[in-house]
Amino acid sequence: MLGSTGSIGKSTLDVVRASGGRLSIYLLAARASGRALIEQARAFRPSWVVVADPAAAEGIRGSDLPAGTRLAEGDDALAELVRGPEIDRVVSAIVGAAGLKSTWAAVEAGKTVALANKETLVMAGPLVMKLAERSGATILPVDSEHSAIHQALASGARHEVARLVLTASGGPFRTTPASELATVTPEQALRHPTWSMGRKITIDSATMMNKALEIIEARWLFDIPSEKISVVVHPQSVVHSMVEFVDGSVVAQMSPPDMRLPIQYAIEHPHRRPGPARRFDWNSGFSLDFEPPDPERFPAIRLGHEAARRGGTAGAVLNAANEAAVQGFLDGELAFTEIAEVSGRLLEEHPFEAEPSLEDICGIDAWTREEVQRWSVS
Ligand code: NAD
Ligand code: MG
Repeated sequence: MLGSTGSIGKSTLDVVRASGGRLSIYLLAARASGRALIEQARAFRPSWVVVADPAAAEGIRGSDLPAGTRLAEGDDALAELVRGPEIDRVVSAIVGAAGLKSTWAAVEAGKTVALANKETLVMAGPLVMKLAERSGATILPVDSEHSAIHQALASGARHEVARLVLTASGGPFRTTPASELATVTPEQALRHPTWSMGRKITIDSATMMNKALEIIEARWLFDIPSEKISVVVHPQSVVHSMVEFVDGSVVAQMSPPDMRLPIQYAIEHPHRRPGPARRFDWNSGFSLDFEPPDPERFPAIRLGHEAARRGGTAGAVLNAANEAAVQGFLDGELAFTEIAEVSGRLLEEHPFEAEPSLEDICGIDAWTREEVQRWSVS
């Protein structure tokens, strides 16, 4: 479990707990130690606890961990341990570009990877998918939209697919006038109407950059061209996404907004079992709304299509620019609207490479972060 103390990590452990011992945890990894990680280790008794930040590892004493649990530190150790033959499935839920290295190692080792860390596919989609083909790894999406599409695709053959339709909640600013967006605060942006998630993805939902990243994720995961991916705003977050087939039939997957369901789907695939996720109450009515996204107020969506269309280094640049700009916004250095602005500018101006290696991608990631830094101080 990579990123065990985060929002996806905790939901994953709920699913494991609810399995009544059928599922067990071999390794827990998080950035820093803290009580949460120690408590998880005591509850799940993994063979390994890995702390990415070596400075933080010093905070854990051997006596904090249960007998039989060993401690390792640093992302090299994590990338090595994740290849272990004891591991069947890897849940990849570290946030941001930091998740690439261990996810790459899991794919290279041919694991079944339940992928929440969409940034890995946004940065290096073609390379990761090729690697999976070579190693025999299976990548199953945890992102609720892609989980829905994975399920809906089972309704027809690949050549019968006309379009993927990603739903978006619209975030906290779905109805906010454009003139007010420049001055919204991190506190307002962190108040998501339907999902409770980590800070970075919550800001991504407010800018709708999350949907941009998901367009790119879908482009590589399902090998579908950018122009066949649409976005529709659906404020209730009940329909998690749809596949439109050539005959006009649209197949949707729906469930109450609860990440434990797509996580369980990815962990248990191809089986379905009872689990802890919330269910509909069919005795109380509800309605579903759909509306097109407003490209003026949410320019990020266009950037997602653009990066998915161009491929190469475009995804890595958009991802790094966004990640650095979100941090800048949270730190009070950038305005909310500058997140999409600086990301769009760097996407346009960066030294584009059509067939980058993994090293090229890491290089452009670092370059982009420096550029955002320069934008922030100017
Ligand atoms: P989060 O911030 O709640 O948790 C992040 C986790 O990653 C924490 O356990 C943290 O300790 C760990 N981490 C951070 N940096 C690390 C590093 N360098 N090395 C090792 N561990 C590190 O984030 P989240 O909301 O759980 O999101 C995780 C991933 O899942 C993101 O890629 C996000 O886009 C994706 N995702 C999340 C949701 C959701 O509902 N939260 C939905 C879909 C996709
Ligand atoms: Mg999603």
